[in-house]
Amino acid sequence: MKTPMIKTRFAPSPTGYLHLGNVRTALFNALLARHEGGRFVLRIEDTDPERSRPEYVAALLEDLRWLGLDWQEGPEIEGPCAPYSQSERAAIYAEYYQRLEASGQVYPCFCTPAELALSRKVQRAAGRPPRYAGTCAKLTASEQQARRDRGVMPTLRFRTPPGRPVEFTDLVRGPQRFVSDDIGDFIIRRADGSPQFFFANAVDDALMGITQVLRGEDHLTNTPRQLLLLDVLRLPAPEYGHLALIVGTDGGPLSKREGDLSLRELRAAGYLPEALLNYLARLGHHYEQDVWMEPAELAFGFATAHLGRAPARYDEAQLLHWQAEAVRHASPERLWAWMGSAVHEQVASAHREDFVATVRPNIRFPAEAAFWAERLFGSAELILSADSRAVIIQAGSKFFTQALAAYAEHGADYQSLVDALKQQTGLKGKNLFMPLRAALTGETHGPELARILALLPLNSVRQRLETASWPEKWCG
Ligand code: GLU
Repeated sequence: MKTPMIKTRFAPSPTGYLHLGNVRTALFNALLARHEGGRFVLRIEDTDPERSRPEYVAALLEDLRWLGLDWQEGPEIEGPCAPYSQSERAAIYAEYYQRLEASGQVYPCFCTPAELALSRKVQRAAGRPPRYAGTCAKLTASEQQARRDRGVMPTLRFRTPPGRPVEFTDLVRGPQRFVSDDIGDFIIRRADGSPQFFFANAVDDALMGITQVLRGEDHLTNTPRQLLLLDVLRLPAPEYGHLALIVGTDGGPLSKREGDLSLRELRAAGYLPEALLNYLARLGHHYEQDVWMEPAELAFGFATAHLGRAPARYDEAQLLHWQAEAVRHASPERLWAWMGSAVHEQVASAHREDFVATVRPNIRFPAEAAFWAERLFGSAELILSADSRAVIIQAGSKFFTQALAAYAEHGADYQSLVDALKQQTGLKGKNLFMPLRAALTGETHGPELARILALLPLNSVRQRLETASWPEKWCG
């Protein structure tokens, strides 16, 4: 028998912007499909008209594309299972509701939210887990009609078969066992006629031929309901894998300060998509090697067997590490574009390439590139960091007079300049380079000094060395 093509999906509800958590879900599903040479489907779960917004749909398509998580079926590109927005699939759901109604596996429920809340409260007080008490399960046709005549709009409830174990092997958590009696009858259509999550999500996975579903473990308790539904509808069920949630360093839910940022915010801060991909692909999933990987390599090494059950802890230091790697691996053209207008305005086109090469190892964000652009091509007068000031004082004015003379003779020929200065001063290593760096950049850390010297305008070098040789000019 031919094994079916692997098909995964990302099924966001467009009720907000994508955050690290749901981006990771999208990524894992996309990587799994790519690893298997399958298809990645994007489905918009916009059945909640109150909370779903078209602008969020547009934003999430843009965000996924920015990340390079292109879908092979879904909005805008369509495909054999269109439409890919649940709000456009009402006719499909109607057909499956009808089937369930015809076979008596569902019934209208007229209980009001207040009645249901009270029932849950009573059950909890009695130490029982709350589930639907079955109030409307046995209404006769005339009792139903009487309620309809009173204008009560019913929900539609699934008649959960009693005494049935529901078992499945979770791709992440291994064998799972639930008992249908713990579930109770559940709503599959709201009173306003819109489909409930369990139903639309399960039916669509089946009709779209989804073979694997990776989703947050907050959905784990939904899975037995969905399996019962699919079973009754005689639709195929996907394999499910429930991902451990991302938590903050304290083990609690992610906070705004700690990683609960939208992709838009991260992008605006200058994060590169590959940094997020390298970081997120390792958050709750491990690779044999902890080295930088291109997106295709991330897919190549992805395996559901490498998904962890322990909560995935957000670690900003790791994210910054992958950001630095992403900067290191980006093409010069891309990095230049990423640096943005503050850099573009400051750096002449003749220096573009050298500037990018010079600052690349020392920056993680465009603001840092802008800082170095200003230091190199901005005012010759420097604001010195406290450390630089101390280093310059320590070196003494004579050192800088000698440096000026060496510069006059050798110009930006770094090696000759340094050799000459070494000879004259008898200094070497840190004692030689640090004062030069401090005087030329105002900082004690930064890009390679030889490159800085080559890029700095002559006047700036002269003026900065001169200033350093007259401590009263800047000490006062
Ligand atoms: N729309 C659901 C959500 O965003 C999808 C859950 C699932 O992946 O099955 O949580």
